[in-house]
Amino acid sequence: MIISKGFKYKLRLTKEQESFCDQTAGSCRYVWNKGLALKKELWEKKKQKLSRFDLVKLLREWKKGLDWLSLPPSQSLQQTSKDLDQAFSNFFHGRGYPKFKKKGIHDSFRLPQGITLMEQLSKKVGQAKLPKLGIVRFTKSKELEGRIKHVTISKTCGKWYIAFNCEVNIPEPKEIAQSKVGIDRGIKTFAQCSDGTTIQGVSPLKGNLKKLAKLQRKLSKKKKFSSNWRKTKQKIEKLHYHISNVRKDFLHKTSTQLAKSHGLIVMEDLKVGNMSKSSKGTKENPGKNVKAKSGLNRSILDQGWYTLQNLLSYKLDWRGGRLILISPKNTSLKCRICGHIAKENRVKLEEFQCVNCGHTENADLNASINILAEGHSVIACGVETVVSTVKQELLIRKPMAV
Ligand SMILES: [Zn+2]
Repeated sequence: MIISKGFKYKLRLTKEQESFCDQTAGSCRYVWNKGLALKKELWEKKKQKLSRFDLVKLLREWKKGLDWLSLPPSQSLQQTSKDLDQAFSNFFHGRGYPKFKKKGIHDSFRLPQGITLMEQLSKKVGQAKLPKLGIVRFTKSKELEGRIKHVTISKTCGKWYIAFNCEVNIPEPKEIAQSKVGIDRGIKTFAQCSDGTTIQGVSPLKGNLKKLAKLQRKLSKKKKFSSNWRKTKQKIEKLHYHISNVRKDFLHKTSTQLAKSHGLIVMEDLKVGNMSKSSKGTKENPGKNVKAKSGLNRSILDQGWYTLQNLLSYKLDWRGGRLILISPKNTSLKCRICGHIAKENRVKLEEFQCVNCGHTENADLNASINILAEGHSVIACGVETVVSTVKQELLIRKPMAV
C-alpha cells in the first residue's frame, strides 16, 4: 500500500538563501492575496468563478509588470494559484472561507518539482538540491523514506524548515483489529467511547490565554517595528507554536492509540467548519449567544476535532480499518435501550434519563453507543459518508476505498 508521509527538518540556510526564501514566500503571499481579492470580487459582483487556469494566465500578466515576481521559482507561484483554487473548493465543501495572508504568519512556499536529495554531509546533516535555491543543508533528525513528491519550505518563529512529502510503500495490514467503537466528542470530555473508556482532552490555548493576552497588551504599547516590539512579537509567535505543538502531539497520540485498538470507528459528522464559524452573524441576522458560542468555538478549535477526524481516517486506512461518519441527528436524545427519542430525556446536562423506559446512564456514553449502532446500520444500508480528503500539513491521506 502506498501512503503519503511527511518528513520535516530544520534548515541550515546561508544568509543569501534566507533572504531568497523570505522573498519567495513574500511573492507567493502577493499572488495569493491578489488572486483571492480578484476571486472574491468576481464572485460577489458577478457570481463568476475564476479557475486555476485563469489564475495561472493572470500570473503571467502580473509578471510582465513586476520584475521581482520573476525572481522566485515560477512553480512555487503556480502552486500558490493551485492552492488558492483548492482553498475555494474546500470552502464550497463546507470549510472556512480562504483568508488573506499576512507577512510573518505562516510564511511558506512549495516546490513541486526538481528536488534532488544529495549525499549527506555528516550523520546529522542532510543536503538537497532545490530549484533556484541551490544546495540547502538541513538537520537530519530522522530518516527520510520513500519517493519525494514535493517539498514545502516554511518559517516558524524566525526559523526555516523543509518538509519532504514522500510516497512510502508500507506493507498491507495483516491483521485488522476486530473491535468496533462509537465515539461521542464533547466539550467537557474530549471523547467518550462506546466501550466505556473516556479520553480527556488538552486545552493548551485555554491554559495560555492569560499569558497571551498579557503579551498582546505589551505589544500594543510598543512602537511598531521597534526592536522591543519585534522581541515581544517573537514571544507571542513562540507561544502560539508551543500551543500548536501540544495540541498536535495530543491528537497524534490519541489517534494512533484509537486506530491501533479498533478496526471500525464511528463518529458524528459535525461539520466542524460550520460549527466554529463566527458566532457574530451578519448585520441583518446577528448571532445569538455570541459569548457562549465563541467560547464553544474556541473550545472546538482548541481541541482539534477536525484534525482528529483526519488523523484517524488515514491511520485507520494504514491498518485496514475504517472511519465512518454518521449524521448527528438525535444521537444524544435517543434512548439506546428502547429507542425513544425525546428532548425530555435530556433534562440533566450530564445524565440521560429515558422518560419512556426509565433507563439512566451517562449522557455521553448513551450517545456513543447510539453512534456505534448508527454506524452499523449505515454500513448495512451501504450509504456511507466518505471522509473527505483533506490536505494535512505533514501528511496527506489517500482517498478512502469504500
Ligand atoms: Zn428508554
